[in-house]
Amino acid sequence: MGDQSLMNHRNKTLALFQRIFGDRLRSAMPMDELTTLRAGGLAELFLETSRPDDLVVAVKVTLEQGVPLTVLGGGSNVLVGDGGLRGLVVRLRHGGIFRAGSHHVRAEGGVTMNGLVRWTIQRELAGLERWAGTPGSIGGAIHGNAHFDGRLVSDIVSSVGLVDSTGAVRSVSQADMCFGYDDSRVKHSDERVLWAEFKVAEGDPTVLRASARRSLGFRKSTQPLGLASAGCVFQNPRLEDGPLPDDVPRSAGALIEQAGLKGRRVGRAVVSSVHGNFIVNEGGATAYDIRQLVEICRAAVFDCFGIVLRDELVYLGEFDSEL
Ligand SMILES: Cc1cc2nc3c(=O)[nH]c(=O)nc-3n(C[C@H](O)[C@H](O)[C@H](O)COP(=O)(O)OP(=O)(O)OC[C@H]3O[C@@H](n4cnc5c(N)ncnc54)[C@H](O)[C@@H]3O)c2cc1C
Repeated sequence: MGDQSLMNHRNKTLALFQRIFGDRLRSAMPMDELTTLRAGGLAELFLETSRPDDLVVAVKVTLEQGVPLTVLGGGSNVLVGDGGLRGLVVRLRHGGIFRAGSHHVRAEGGVTMNGLVRWTIQRELAGLERWAGTPGSIGGAIHGNAHFDGRLVSDIVSSVGLVDSTGAVRSVSQADMCFGYDDSRVKHSDERVLWAEFKVAEGDPTVLRASARRSLGFRKSTQPLGLASAGCVFQNPRLEDGPLPDDVPRSAGALIEQAGLKGRRVGRAVVSSVHGNFIVNEGGATAYDIRQLVEICRAAVFDCFGIVLRDELVYLGEFDSEL
C-alpha cells in the first residue's frame, strides 16, 4: 500500500471504531498511567470496557481490519515499551460476579481478584480468601495462573470462558486450560478470557477474614508495596533449569539477592531491597531502564549459578531494538 492509501485505510478504520465504540474510544493513551510499573509509551487506540460483549466485538472488528489487539487487565504484570503499543488496547474493568450453583461462583474478566475475594467473604463463601491482596483482574490471573505462597489460582478454577481470534466463544474445563506454574493455554493461543468459574464452599466469615488478613500481612512484610512495581520479574527456576547448591533455595528472589543485586539501579529503576525479584520504579524510570536492569539481573544470576531466569513479567509493545 502507498502512503496515501495507507493513510486512507487508517482513517477509515478509525472512523469505523469510533462508530462502534463512540466516545469511549481514545487515542494516544499513556500506558504509564495504566500499569503498576508506571512506565511505557502510548497506546495508539484505547478502549475501557466492563462488558464481555465489547471484547468479543473488539476481537471481531480488529481481525476484520487487520489491527493488532492487546487486552489488559490491571496492568500489574506488564512492562509496556517506551515506543508504545500499536493498534487497539482493550482494558477490561469491573464486570459481574454471579453464583453458578451452590458450589461455584462466576466472575467476568475485568473483575479484580480483590473484588472477588471481598464478594465471596461477604457471602460467607470460602475458597478465595487467601488471594486477598493479589493485584489485577480475573483475566490476568487466569492468563499467568497467578500464584502465591505455594498455591496456584488454577487449584480453585473449574472452567473458563474464552473468545478466540475469530470471535467464537467457548467454555473450557479446568483440565483443558493447560495450567502450569505461571502458565495457561491463553499464553500460547490467540484466546482471551471472558470469565472464570471458581469452586467455593460455605465458610465462617470470621475465619475467612482472618485468613485474608494473614495473606495481606504476609504481603506487607515481604513485598515493597509502597512503590511502583509489577510483582515478580522472573519465574522461580524449575528443576530442569539446572542444579543449585543444597543451601540455595529455588527462588529467583534468593538468587538475585545472593548475586548481590539488591539495590542495583539503572536510572530510576532499582532492584528492591525488600524482595530481590521486584524491580521498583522510584518515579520517572523508562521501560528501557527497567528492561536493562532485568537483563543485568539475568546475566549476573547466570554468572553466579549457571541458571537462566525465565520471564514472569510480560513485555508488550515496542522496545528499543538495541536491547
Ligand atoms: C505488588 C504486586 C504484588 C504481586 N503479587 C503477585 C502474586 O502474589 N502472585 C502472582 O501471581 N502475581 C503477582 N503480581 C503480578 C500480577 O498482579 C498478577 O500476575 C496478576 O494476575 C496480573 O493481572 P492483571 O489483570 O494486572 O494483568 P495485566 O498485567 O493487565 O496483564 C498480564 C497479561 O495478561 C494478559 N491478560 C490480561 N487480561 C486478559 C484477558 N482478559 N484475556 C487474556 N489475556 C489477558 C495481558 O495481555 C498480559 O499479557 C503482583 C504484582 C504486584 C504489583
